[in-house]
Amino acid sequence: MSYVDEVIAKVKEKNASEPEFLQTVEEVLTSIRPLVDANEEKYRKLALLERIVEPERQVKFRVPWVDDNGQVQVNIGYRVQFNSAIGPYKGGLRFHPSVYIGIIKFLGFEQIFKNSLTGLPIGGGKGGSDFDPNGKSDMEIMRFCQSFMTELFRHIGPDTDVPAGDIGVGGREIGYLMGQYKRIRDCYDGTLTGKGTENGGLAGRAEATGYGVVFYAREMLKHFGEELKGKTVALSGFGNVTWGTALKLNELGAKVITISGPDGYILDEDGISGEKVDYLLELRGSGKNICSPYAEKYPNAKFFKGEKPWGVKADLYIPCATQNEIRIDDAKAMVANGCKFLCEAANMPTTNEAIEYLKENGVVIGPSKAANAGGVACSCIEMSQNAGHTIFTADDVYAQLENIMVNIFKQSIAACEKYGLGDDLIAGANIAGFERVANAMLLQGIV
Ligand code: GLU
Repeated sequence: MSYVDEVIAKVKEKNASEPEFLQTVEEVLTSIRPLVDANEEKYRKLALLERIVEPERQVKFRVPWVDDNGQVQVNIGYRVQFNSAIGPYKGGLRFHPSVYIGIIKFLGFEQIFKNSLTGLPIGGGKGGSDFDPNGKSDMEIMRFCQSFMTELFRHIGPDTDVPAGDIGVGGREIGYLMGQYKRIRDCYDGTLTGKGTENGGLAGRAEATGYGVVFYAREMLKHFGEELKGKTVALSGFGNVTWGTALKLNELGAKVITISGPDGYILDEDGISGEKVDYLLELRGSGKNICSPYAEKYPNAKFFKGEKPWGVKADLYIPCATQNEIRIDDAKAMVANGCKFLCEAANMPTTNEAIEYLKENGVVIGPSKAANAGGVACSCIEMSQNAGHTIFTADDVYAQLENIMVNIFKQSIAACEKYGLGDDLIAGANIAGFERVANAMLLQGIV
């Protein structure tokens, strides 16, 4: 059995109850096969893959908090410190009822290679809780965040582990987490990123992930002789990433026609632009987690209850919501509609089965580890802003972000060429991200 298959089999045996983690390990290890095969003897002896699939450390803790009725609630908190070979652990916190250790491990594993692709000195980590911020009052959110940080603070620090936001954790939550961290540690040290600019946050961080996705999509289309201008784009989600992506797509002359929520999707053939994009922030801020009010506010738009936007005809599809939102039936609908390009803004939005089908049918896929790396890249810029006790302008940030995204695309293509992978941008990104981490690990000895 090849070394890759051996390690996949071991991971399956040891983590059988964590399907999302197994999914990403299988996707990454299978796609880096050419690199591993070329170094099989050395990697096997040093157990490089066994080490890379095992988190360096994982913490699980109780988060008790008092709701507005005086009732005590108990949630579970997690932080998985996956890999620090190239820098301090870096990755967001997700607050969502679906969170359990398998979700945090999948996100932490993805983060290792994504962070590596940025070319910046950041390792991979992720955390979160099964707490659901939807429908909670502001004070409930604050009390939860304070309790969460009262436990997490001892595991993080500016050179150790730097959390940020993810689903359910935005500027408000980061503010409360930072306030409690500063109070306990008596230290204003930039340990969290995604802060408001008043708190040392980075100008442009809010839109960074979405802008980065569009820069990546632009490079991808350019490589295949096409441009974003005039293209029709189907997005999912209606949160921060969807908002930033829609803003930049409009600026570059593309037309956004869909958004979605857990309740269904919106089709707006007039285009989601101008004040309609700003309205997404209002919709998300309502705390109701539904997108149907868009169709009440803009009656030309149609709401499709309980459906996803993947059956709509578009030139480019950009999933921005959550993992596994594109399954095999969605992939079939997309191909039937003539889909040529898919650019993943959410983390692991496409199942492995759907990826295979799309690839077999000639669809070019920009993988999330590459396409959505602009968010964490700007988090690292925020870390250096804080460490240097300085402030960068939004224009500085956008220029650095654009450079980073162009480089990510170039590195992925270079890996495709070096290993004869054709247009497989997933394998190209995985190999480029893996190679940097593997080389750093090899230099550090058996740790
Ligand atoms: N949650 C984001 C991601 O998936 C950002 C992480 C960060 O800024 O640390 O990359």
